[in-house]
Amino acid sequence: MLPDKIHFGAIMDVGKAEMHTGNFPEPGPEDIVVKMNICNICTNDYQQFNGMRKKDLPMAAGHECSGYIVWKGKNVNPLYEIGMQVSNFINSCGVCYECRTGNQDLCTGKFSEDGPCSDGFYGRKPGERGFSDYMVVNQRRMISVSNDIAPACAAFLEPFSAALHGLRKGHVMPGEDVVIIGGGTMGLVNAQTAHALGARVIITEIDPYKIDRAKSMGVADVIDSRNNNAVEEVKRLTKGKGADVVVPCVGLSAAYKQAYDMLRKAAGRFIIYSAGYPAPEFPPDMVNSNKVHYNKLDIIGTIGANSSDCADASRFISNRLVKPEFILQLNKPIPLRDIQKAYEFASTPGTYRISVDLQGV
Ligand SMILES: [Zn+2]
Ligand SMILES: [Zn+2]
Repeated sequence: MLPDKIHFGAIMDVGKAEMHTGNFPEPGPEDIVVKMNICNICTNDYQQFNGMRKKDLPMAAGHECSGYIVWKGKNVNPLYEIGMQVSNFINSCGVCYECRTGNQDLCTGKFSEDGPCSDGFYGRKPGERGFSDYMVVNQRRMISVSNDIAPACAAFLEPFSAALHGLRKGHVMPGEDVVIIGGGTMGLVNAQTAHALGARVIITEIDPYKIDRAKSMGVADVIDSRNNNAVEEVKRLTKGKGADVVVPCVGLSAAYKQAYDMLRKAAGRFIIYSAGYPAPEFPPDMVNSNKVHYNKLDIIGTIGANSSDCADASRFISNRLVKPEFILQLNKPIPLRDIQKAYEFASTPGTYRISVDLQGV
């Protein structure tokens, strides 16, 4: 028996979020109904909440989520079983040029997200919202994650997919030296992913709490860049060569300069994974076209992930090649009815991922 109401969290105004109730969407023959466990609050989410990123409001969203299948339509693939844990997969049409060429996250064929949904909320349609006690979605929109994995960890599928996408664009090879600037959530996601790809990983961080957290993962050398010259330390650790790949996960000009200074002289790859507000400046040397040419420098922009990144990230998480539990804030998940509190906590500088308990309605 499916419920007749669905609960979801929404940002009503800058700094104001609340739980709402709507009618339970009618599932179709290719839909699955997922009883949701956890949605983690993405950087993107809390920056919309605190007004750093402008979005149309009110907005109902959430995409770092997981739950168990409780119902499936008659045309759903038998690979899906009742009770199976699933997480959010890419929304793509499968037939547009971008989808056909493997860039499903750039799909131009999906429904427009420009206007408000039928119930007046921007963002995701009813049934497709991550901050919700149920999802009612086409089977293509979810991917399985082993039931052995804790729900808050299974919910990390999207950030790990995105990190994998960026590191693959940077052609990270086993044994290469990859430096991650910043040991916050995105820094640690990138560090674990680079480690899973076989790279030697170095993290730089100034905050003692984050330094401890980064060290505790056991996958990286961690430089305390408040008490050390991080550029010299990277040179020392790489026997003077410098990093093959740098990933600044701090959206500041100073971090970009430091990352560039650490990069190996020739054939280095500079991956721009995260945005900053205001946008970080490139070091002038880095964007000198002759230097880019002579140094064979790759400046790589990345966001999102394609379907194979998601499928592979699902295996990385399911087979414990990455350990999302190191990237969670150590508190009990906050119930959906207290979504205001959850967003406020997530907006507090220095926190790792905050989990929302989606059955707490
Ligand atoms: Zn996210
Ligand atoms: Zn498409």
